[in-house]
Amino acid sequence: MKYISTRGQSPALSFSEILLGGLAPDGGLYLPETYPQFTDADLTAMRGMKYADLAFAILSRLIDDIPAVDLKAIIDKTYRADVYAYTRSGQDAADITPTLKLENNLYLLNLSNGPTLAFKDIAMQLLGNLFEYVLTKTGRTTNILGATSGDTGSAAEYAMRGKQGVRVFMLSPNKKMSRFQTAQMFSLQDDNIYNIAVNGVFDDCQDMVKAVSNDAEFKAKYKIGAVNSINWGRIVAQVVYYFKGYFAVTQNNAQKVSFSVPSGNFGNVCAGHIARMMGLPIDKLVVATNENDVLDEFFKTGVYRPRGSAKTYHTSSPSMDISKASNFERFVFDLVGRDSSKVRELWASVDSGGAFDIKPLLNKLADYGFVSGSSNHANRMQMIRDTYKKYAVTIDTHTADGLKVALECRDANVPMIVLETALPAKFEDSIIEALGSLPERPAALNGIESLPQRFDVMNFDVAEIKQYIMDRAS
Ligand SMILES: *Cc1c(COP(=O)(O)O)cnc(C)c1O
Repeated sequence: MKYISTRGQSPALSFSEILLGGLAPDGGLYLPETYPQFTDADLTAMRGMKYADLAFAILSRLIDDIPAVDLKAIIDKTYRADVYAYTRSGQDAADITPTLKLENNLYLLNLSNGPTLAFKDIAMQLLGNLFEYVLTKTGRTTNILGATSGDTGSAAEYAMRGKQGVRVFMLSPNKKMSRFQTAQMFSLQDDNIYNIAVNGVFDDCQDMVKAVSNDAEFKAKYKIGAVNSINWGRIVAQVVYYFKGYFAVTQNNAQKVSFSVPSGNFGNVCAGHIARMMGLPIDKLVVATNENDVLDEFFKTGVYRPRGSAKTYHTSSPSMDISKASNFERFVFDLVGRDSSKVRELWASVDSGGAFDIKPLLNKLADYGFVSGSSNHANRMQMIRDTYKKYAVTIDTHTADGLKVALECRDANVPMIVLETALPAKFEDSIIEALGSLPERPAALNGIESLPQRFDVMNFDVAEIKQYIMDRAS
């Protein structure tokens, strides 16, 4: 299986060749040149598989340059019950992504039982093991440089801690993450993890990362890498739990299900689109946004109008506070019939700060199952209260966005699965606001705020971060 760029002007590469990189050289995103197809017989054989076996059945169709025995070992090491142990009582951690039935035809897919209590662990943990494998095999190293406002950075650090050949330099806005998120990241004592608290806001952190990455000479010399949401390895790992969720709520392959996905960078729901393209019987893919509703606007009007960071609202579902959906180009490539010159034309406008309008293709969106909606703070609070009252289940603010839109787009006869993208313990202040009490926290994480913390403070200074990396990366 080769991977091609959505912009059509980069050579096709194998999985291992694109694993450590970000954008294709032509500025596009990688996708498989064709989607492998799962037949009815394949689906029947996959039904009932354990998570790791299911992951192997899917990933081995997309990764053909890692020997099968090695890939199997990497997957088995990644999807172990003890890594995804923060299940609700009564659930089996061996399911990795268990489903929780709320009522007839309405479910949560619990994706957030991993070390950092957000769905990003599922993909990032695989990436950590794949990186280590590929780097060790080729005798290479990488210095991952990233900016985070919380979820991505912690998931990356927990996935990469202690990994051979990998160092992580993670910039976060000083004193702007929640106490819990700060404690999760800064309490890590691993030698290969560097936390840098920048005096500024998230955008300053991101600008520093961009400035370093734009210095091609420095980037090459210090092998600067990234694990951001456009990484194909992350998308591919996320495809697996759509299959897992589908099998959990159906008895046969004639049945269809819908998924509702709290969305920001369009990575998670893009994996759902790919699962559907590979033959998983998905009815609707519900794109749920918060007040940052660029994607909702697109799916309703055909107009994609990214907004600048100055127009990004800070909301109570902060991991969805994104106004430019970095994976969206992958879907549009399929939507325009994989016409890369068309994609280049559309993104010439986006990349220069503009918008595009593909209204004539609006009726085609239904062929791909996409529908959308958005919610605001009051909706989230109401949804958290309603869910607690009706089902005695506490959900976090992002999952609340997903559930709110799911209920609007639901068809009574089709099971609707809402992806639970974080556990409520991660966003305590919002839960106190909604329910008047603290959410349950996994016992192993009690007192995490009082552990010793390891981090360095820095001003917005590109020369200083470069020097910091140089001192530690040689
Ligand atoms: C990252 C994140 C999202 C958004 O996922 P995308 O793949 O960027 O669309 C939603 N919820 C939570 C809790 C997240 O951490």
